[in-house]
Parts: sequence; structure tokens; C-alpha cells
Amino acid sequence: MSLRNQYMTVPPGTDIPSVVNAIVEIPKGRRSKFEVDKATGLIRLDRFLYSSSHYPGDYGFIPQTLAEDGDALDILVMVNEPTFSGCLIQARVVGLFRMKDRGLNDYKVLAVPDTDPLFGEYKDLQDVAGHYLREVEHFFATYKQLEGIHIETGGWDKASVATATVKESVLRYERSLDVGMVDPPIET
Ligand SMILES: [Mg+2]
Repeated sequence: MSLRNQYMTVPPGTDIPSVVNAIVEIPKGRRSKFEVDKATGLIRLDRFLYSSSHYPGDYGFIPQTLAEDGDALDILVMVNEPTFSGCLIQARVVGLFRMKDRGLNDYKVLAVPDTDPLFGEYKDLQDVAGHYLREVEHFFATYKQLEGIHIETGGWDKASVATATVKESVLRYERSLDVGMVDPPIET
């Protein structure tokens, strides 16, 4: 599996592991599952979600990370207004949602745009409305149900656990470059 694309040339963040670069694939409110195509680097329509639900935030990945499922670490950014596919958001990490997709850990980092004044006081999980956390949990618990795929949810963790996961995923990516598991970022 090649991770060679322009987005992987972007560093993982400006203040790792607390402020990360989020590359948006799916804007908030969309049911279309867009993703960066690893072969071409273009934004590709993977599928229309089988479930009648939409993404509860801007959703994408942190570049130059490697999560346990073999992909870059996933991130959900709370936004006051959806951005667009390919948008880079400097995002402040506030929590971590644990889940397993087909037996593999597939954690989702929760973050807010670092420069959005309306999210200025969001520093940790306790600053996020409880109902929003339930919405996100419900979304991930059910979004693949009609595809016959079972998601096992593991609940929420606070910012310190999320930043530890970011750190691990950055190290895992760096180690994978050393052993040639993924292509190095293209020099630009
Ligand atoms: Mg993933």
C-alpha cells in the first residue's frame, strides 16, 4: 500500500503532539465518503454511506503518521462551518475516541481548529458538550451497519491519551520509513 501523495509531504503538526495538521477528506454534514486516493493523490469518492447519516465534523487524517490499522491516524475536527476536501486545519487535540473496525484498533482523534475563537476554551474532553460526544459515538457505532461491518466502540479518552496516541503514530510512521514499509514523502 503506497502512501505516496502530496498530502503526506505535510508535516504532522506545528506543535506535536498537541497541535496537529488535519487534512480534511470529508467535510462536516456530508454523507459522501471522500478519501485521498493513495495512488494518484487526488480526492476520490470512495462511496456514499450506506447508512442515512452524515459526518459530525470535518473528518480526515494527520499526515506523516501511521496508526495501528496501517493508515494515517484519523481525526475528527469540530467546526462551526464545514471546510472542504483537501483543506489543512491546524487543529488542537482535545480527546480520543476508541473503536475497533473488523478487529483492528481504529482510533479517532477529536480536535478543534486552533485559531477559531469560538473554540478558544476547548482544551480537553470535559470542555466538549456531552451530547456531541454521544452523537459521534452513535455515528461511528452505526455508519457501517448496513454494510454488515461491525464496529466495536471503546468510549472516550481525554486529551493526554490522545496526544500520546499522536506521538506513537508519528514514531510508528518514522520507524516505517526506516524499514521501507511506506514510501518516503516526496521532496518538493
Ligand atoms: Mg483508520
